[in-house]
Amino acid sequence: MRVLVIEDETKVGCFIKRALEEESYAVDLCEDGAKGLEMALSTNYDLLVVDLMLPSMSGLDILKNVRRERIQTPILILSAQSQIDQRVKGLDAGADDYLTKPFAIDELLARVRALLRRGASEIPGILQVDDLILNPATRDVTRGGQRIELTLKEYALLEYLMRHTGRVLTRPMISEHVWNQDFDTFTNVIDVYVNYLRNKIDRGRAKKLIHTIRGSGYMLKAGARVSSTHRRRGTTLPISRTGSYR
Ligand code: CA
Repeated sequence: MRVLVIEDETKVGCFIKRALEEESYAVDLCEDGAKGLEMALSTNYDLLVVDLMLPSMSGLDILKNVRRERIQTPILILSAQSQIDQRVKGLDAGADDYLTKPFAIDELLARVRALLRRGASEIPGILQVDDLILNPATRDVTRGGQRIELTLKEYALLEYLMRHTGRVLTRPMISEHVWNQDFDTFTNVIDVYVNYLRNKIDRGRAKKLIHTIRGSGYMLKAGARVSSTHRRRGTTLPISRTGSYR
């Protein structure tokens, strides 16, 4: 999941960025209001964390502009204790939540998780596709009841795939949302990591969940049994979409 943090206090910004990265998010940090708005409008983020007092443009104006462009990305406002009326205005202007400084980083992380869940249309915490289960709160992953150990990047890739079950995710989308990098320099890494994931998720199982969509990218969906014929053709199978969230 890709997050933009707009915060002009370098120490606070870097602290948030590091904490989110440790939780497997891809994070951009911007210290200027106008520049931050430009980034928010030009890039497809999954969440915005916006400080209210910023150079060149206030957090409130960023918010209004983002919503005016009909971008529904969840927005978490950061505000000082003294800015209660600003906070109210922020919520009125379309912010989803706010946090008062100073805050405990665990609270920020919990709110980020809650907002990302809400972003995916009020879906309760656990993600499930077939017998593959991912708990974003604990980062536990199991398949068929067996615990699967993933590295941070493998986990981030799997969460991104699971949050978009049944949709083709192109390599540029994956590199942006999971690695926070432009695609062109990055092709091979994605394929390598998808292979790592396949080894841990699909290898030795009759039902494959990670599908290669030739010429496009990858898709995670509830598996039918994949015969070798189908795999050779590299087509997606006409499987009914049983992947569901629990
Ligand atoms: Ca500030």
